[in-house]
Amino acid sequence: MIGAIISPLLTWYDAGHRDLPWRKTKNPYHIWLSEIMLQQTRVEAVIPYYERFLQVCPDIQTLAATPENVYLKLWEGLGYYSRVRNLHRAAQVICQTYGGQMPADYDALRTLPGIGDYTAGAIASIAFGIAQPAVDGNVLRVTTRLLNDTRSIDDTKVKKDLRALLAANIPTDRPGAFNQAMMELGATVCIPNGAPRCDICPLMHLCQAFQQKNTDSIPVRTPKKARRIQPRTVLLVRCGQQIGICQRPAHGLLARMWEFPAFEEHIAPQDIGQTLTKRGWPVTNILALQPAKHIFTHIEWHMIGYEIQLKQPIDQLTWVSAHELRHTYALPSAFRSFLSVLEEM
Ligand code: SF4
Repeated sequence: MIGAIISPLLTWYDAGHRDLPWRKTKNPYHIWLSEIMLQQTRVEAVIPYYERFLQVCPDIQTLAATPENVYLKLWEGLGYYSRVRNLHRAAQVICQTYGGQMPADYDALRTLPGIGDYTAGAIASIAFGIAQPAVDGNVLRVTTRLLNDTRSIDDTKVKKDLRALLAANIPTDRPGAFNQAMMELGATVCIPNGAPRCDICPLMHLCQAFQQKNTDSIPVRTPKKARRIQPRTVLLVRCGQQIGICQRPAHGLLARMWEFPAFEEHIAPQDIGQTLTKRGWPVTNILALQPAKHIFTHIEWHMIGYEIQLKQPIDQLTWVSAHELRHTYALPSAFRSFLSVLEEM
């Protein structure tokens, strides 16, 4: 049945699709970068990040030689910073092992840091015309609906089965176009949350879920575990025109990113002054800030915040200007809401 979708799907794709910057190139580095960025956020949000990243790191050699603070800054706001670290490590491996050229080989791509089945399939098929599927959430949704497959798409064995099915049917003459067409159909027509636009779908006549009236219930997902709630008290510490920041530990969530100092608990307004004075901080003024929430994959930070004025800077913090904080230091978007206080600086 999957074989039957190729012709109507490609005809539909060829008739017109979104005009995205990474669709105009066969440069494997550009395709790789776009695919990693697209794993984190919406297409419209990725475009400016993609263009800015390529201005600073136009090729793999430049990326491999780019310092951490620069590539983290370019990624600021996208989240999942381990992905850009892997991108950088993989660029170094490509320079050391493959002479700075991405290997035109699916298995070799799979061995690079941060490149899994999906990304390797996308690069191999789009840049090199290798017949490998690229199976992301969009493609899983489209495929399970086409097949009226009621198994959970979060099950590793199910994903493996569907990938094998697509691998056996992918057209060898246009694998990149096929993968992009499947992604495009999933992003624009066979959209999630039980609302596919079947009336304009080029595969409606072949789709089993449509015929069985099951499009609302497919794809089936395994319920996720509830996120862990972590209370935090964030301190926007100022001393004159300088702001005190610190670096997170080398491992774990937001590893080595810069942040505002924080306590992993909520400290009430009547207690914060005493808590800081006990630590030897020369506090002259305290102002409560608007609380904020930030959601990670498995954790939620429920943050309260205070703006703290100090008489002198303290050694435990790194002191930077508001300009440096905006332009040099990568600050995770979790802290963005507290940054508005600095707008007048
Ligand atoms: Fe998706 Fe509807 Fe098309 Fe089936 S007919 S592939 S459910 S949009």
